[in-house]
Order: sequence, then structure tokens, then C-alpha cells
Amino acid sequence: MGTTATETLQHVIGGDGFGAGDRERRNPANAGDVVSRFPAGGTADVHRAVGVAADAFAAWASTPAPERGAILIKAAAILESRLAEVARDLTREEGKTLGESTGEVRRAVDILRYYGGEGWRLSGEMVPASTRNQILYTRREPVGVVAVITPWNFPIAIPTWKIAPALVSGNTVVFKPASITPLTAHHLVRALLDAGLPKGVLNLVYGSGSEVGDALVGNDAVAAVSFTGSTSVGKGIHDIASRRMARVQLEMGGKNPFIVAEDASVDEAAALAAVGGWGLTGQACTATSRVIAVGRVLEPLIEALKREAASRAPGDGLAPDAKMGPVVSESQLATDLSYLDIGRKEAELVSGGRVLDGLFLEPALFVAVKPQHRIAREEIFGPIIGIIAVTDLDEAIAVANDSEYGLSASISTNNMAAAHYFIERIEAGVVKVNQPTTGLELNMPFGGSKNSSTGTFREQGRTAVDFYTRSKSVYLRYGEHRSST
Ligand code: NDP
Repeated sequence: MGTTATETLQHVIGGDGFGAGDRERRNPANAGDVVSRFPAGGTADVHRAVGVAADAFAAWASTPAPERGAILIKAAAILESRLAEVARDLTREEGKTLGESTGEVRRAVDILRYYGGEGWRLSGEMVPASTRNQILYTRREPVGVVAVITPWNFPIAIPTWKIAPALVSGNTVVFKPASITPLTAHHLVRALLDAGLPKGVLNLVYGSGSEVGDALVGNDAVAAVSFTGSTSVGKGIHDIASRRMARVQLEMGGKNPFIVAEDASVDEAAALAAVGGWGLTGQACTATSRVIAVGRVLEPLIEALKREAASRAPGDGLAPDAKMGPVVSESQLATDLSYLDIGRKEAELVSGGRVLDGLFLEPALFVAVKPQHRIAREEIFGPIIGIIAVTDLDEAIAVANDSEYGLSASISTNNMAAAHYFIERIEAGVVKVNQPTTGLELNMPFGGSKNSSTGTFREQGRTAVDFYTRSKSVYLRYGEHRSST
């Protein structure tokens, strides 16, 4: 299937490459394909990168914002010109289908353009003063060196939606990507440097979360930490960052419900639940993992979902007809298989759940799931959907809300009054009607509630810059004007 060249990657610190490729990443669809070799960084690399980023801060912060934005817009064009290559590498590295990867790289291009444009719009607020000859206004200022720590499942979209608003606001960045997806991270950083980003403004350090991640979060020169990943790691980061009063933004796990109301069009609802639950191999923070069926929709919905599952055989994401890629890693497969075992004891597996070969896991469907079951409560992060039967919409919403998480939630219904009732009562940061729980627009604020998020700052949209800026309140008094005539 075309090229399987191995990339040799290095940390990028102050624009220069460092480190030797002592770790490797293999293609989850083809273990013989070594996608990249990359260094395992340590505390010394982190300190060097943070130092370089701190040195670069003053000049970058005083660069006019439209000039900063212009570099992002140029990076968008460069990434776009490499879209096919980057999407292909993303599939080789993470496993998702080429269609999914292409969409994700396209999203990164659009995000760079969007925040490039923000360079013209960053603004404070002017308010009326209570006395004469006084001007009151707020200024947005960058916070300093920002640490960006990201997961493997959207290895270019998530880093881009953090790094682009950080840079356009005038911050410098140290980026630690997930160890599973070093090559996609390299492509993003390369596009920005090739677009003319000054050396030291964006630095990339590879290495394990426990070593590089901890060293970054604990570094006193890092003013803010933006993290997306699991809730357990996020809580540890929060502890370390808040001890030294650093600003921290966490977006974490989910256990996202999809309610199928009694009046819903069942085939359409099944298709939406399948996209949300099995698309991206179920490896999305917003993936549908609980389908909540109201009343008589239960039986036809089970049949429709079985048909959907049967049409989604896993395969190599590079194959033109691929419907679902492999699980990302041995350890994620082990997690999925352990939850399949738990689920078989708690409920009834009616479709899928077999490992066909290597990391190819069939989409799985459980029925007779109860809200108290572990497969209904714990984040799995695999292609596994459980159906919970309820009698009415109130019970459906209560079951949906009975979770430590609150990231995304959706309802399938033709009744707009029921939809509004759901919108008002559901505890989730993202609420959808007649759409999969997955899928976001880049100009909408994004984030979860409960244990899915710190809930303090939203990502994406114009609001993303709030995290990367602090507001200064200016009181400016001036003398009385005396006319010379
Ligand atoms: P992890 O929490 O394991 O890792 C996320 C990132 O944190 C990686 O770069 C990881 O490095 C790093 N890390 C690990 N340990 C530490 C540490 N002690 N200190 C600092 N950094 C650390 O998540 P996954 O990569 O496995 O991603 C899956 C998780 O991400 C799921 O829970 C999912 O719900 C969540 N997610 C949330 C999203 C949201 O927006 N709410 C979106 C996408 C995913 P390394 O790779 O080297 O271990």
C-alpha cells in the first residue's frame, strides 16, 4: 500500500533538532511498518525547551497580533499542501481510516486559518468611567510560556486547537504530544516553523507523560497548562499545577449518552448512534457509549444497530473501502477486551466483540445493560455500545445524568418540545439533537462538565483565547483640554 518509510524524529527546541530515535511507533494495522523513531526526552530537555520558550516570549508577545496571525494563515496553506501525506501518516500512526484522517487534517488547516484571523480581532473592552477625563479599558495580554499536553486520538486537531489560539495571543509554547502519535505532532510543528514562526516560540518535546509531562507541569516558568486526556492523569496534573497556582485547563473523559425517544425514526437513530459509537473505532472522548432506548423503540433499535455493526468490519485504515480502523495499541485492546469480559457477565453481547486479527476488533453491541453496570459507568474508549432500556423521557434523562462524566449528549427525536426539555435538563458541555455525540464545529466553544472538564475555560471558538490571555484593567486619567482660541 504505497510507502512505508520510517521517519526519524527529534525534539524541536529553539528551532533545532535534538535527541536520538530510541523509541519507535509501529502501524497498528501492520506491525511490520515502523512509522517513526523518536527520542524519549527527559527533565533536561523540558528545562531547555521551557528556557528557550521563556527567552522567546518578550519578542513574540510584542509582535503585532495580525503579524502573528499571518504566520498561522501561512502555516494553514503549508499544511494544506501536505494534506494527503499528513493524513496518510496519521492513519499509519493512529489507525483511523484515511477518510477520518483526511477530515482531521482538514480541520487542523481550518483551525489555523480561523485563529490566524483572530489576530485581527483580539480585543479588550472599553467601559464608561464615572468621572470626567478618565478612560477605562481592559487589555488582553498573553500569559507567558504555555505547556500543551495532548492525547493520541485526535493527534493533529487537538494540538492545533490549543497551539493556534496560544500563539496568536502572543504566548510561547512547549508541546508534549502523546507518545503514540509523534509523527503527526512533527508535521504540525514543521508547518508552523516553515511558515516563519520565530525560533523558540513553539518547541516540541517527546517523552513519557510521567517524565516529560510531570517535569513540564511542575516547571515554575510554565504559566499555564492546557491538557486533554484521561481524567485520572488530568487530576494529577491539576494537583501539581494548582500547588504553584499555575493556570490549568483540563478536558478529559466521557461516557456519552444517546437517547432514542419513542417517536424517533429508528433507522436514522441507529445510524447516528453507530457513527458516534463505532466511528473512529470508538476512540473519541465524545463517543457514544450508552444508547438509552425509550419504550417501544428498543427491539427495532437493537435490530437496526446489529445491521449497522455488521456493516462496519474493521480493517486497515489505508484501504479505500475501510469502514473502521484497528484499535490504537495492545494496551487499549487489552482494556477493550477486559470490558468485553465484564460486559458478558453483566449484560448480553448480541453483536461483535471478536478480535479478527492483530488489533482489529469487531464493533460490539450489548443489550440488557443496567445503569449500575460497570460498562455503563466507566469510560472504555473502544468500539463498544451498550443499550439501556427505559420507560419514558424523564427516566432517560435521569439515566443519562447518572454519570461522573458530562461531556457530550444527544437525543434522536422528531418532537422539538421533547428536544428542548432534554437540552435544559441534560448535564453535558455539548448537547445535540438528531446528531451523533461526536463531531464538533471549530467556532463553537467546547468543553465538558463534571469530571469531563475543569469547566473553567472553554476550548475552540473565540472563547479559546480567554485561557491564553489575562486581562489588565486600565484606569487612564488625562488633564482638562484648554482651547487656545
Ligand atoms: P492519557 O491521559 O493517558 O494521556 C494524555 C497525554 O498526557 C499524553 O500526552 C500522555 O503522555 C500525557 N501524560 C500521561 N501521564 C502524564 C503525567 N503524569 N503528567 C503529564 N502528562 C501525562 O490519555 P490518552 O492519550 O490515552 O487519551 C485518551 C483519553 O483522552 C481518554 O480518557 C479520552 O476521553 C480523553 N480525551 C478527551 C478529550 C476531550 O476533549 N475531553 C478529547 C480526546 C481524548 P504519553 O502518551 O507519553 O503517556
